Amino acid sequence: MVERIEFCKFTSKPYLFLHTYKIKDFDRITDIVCNFEDPVYVELNFSLKENKIPCIKGNIKLNASLTCQNCLGEVNNKLNINFKTGFLQNEQEGGYLDSDYEKIIFHKKSISTIEFITDEILMSMPMFAKHSYKCYQYQNDDYIAKNPTKNPFAILKSIKN
Ligand SMILES: [Zn+2]
Repeated sequence: MVERIEFCKFTSKPYLFLHTYKIKDFDRITDIVCNFEDPVYVELNFSLKENKIPCIKGNIKLNASLTCQNCLGEVNNKLNINFKTGFLQNEQEGGYLDSDYEKIIFHKKSISTIEFITDEILMSMPMFAKHSYKCYQYQNDDYIAKNPTKNPFAILKSIKN
């Protein structure tokens, strides 16, 4: 496992890094996700553009179980994250990269692999997780169905009789 991404090792020939992590490997992700044991599939492609700009093209796949903001139940979010990042020495270097690159001005020699992946996942995480169906409404309907006496129409019916 590559602990740190070292920019001096990037060459014009792309280097592919493949690893399957677990959600619990990412401290900051475990603060918001509850399926700690599930896999995080990571594919990172390191290359040097124009002989000087370290670039990472990547794909991260995971299933994130978040808390639904409507019903507080678990809601699954399948994340399939694709990104292209270029680490620049200055703004001018950005001109060498296509517009779909995320451009970061960066002067350190290396970054933590875990922290880099964490940032990419957090940027793609929904701000407010919610079930795609009307979960709150459904729960109430369910409650009424199981408790027929609580149904206001049932009361109406008994008054009529
Ligand atoms: Zn819900």
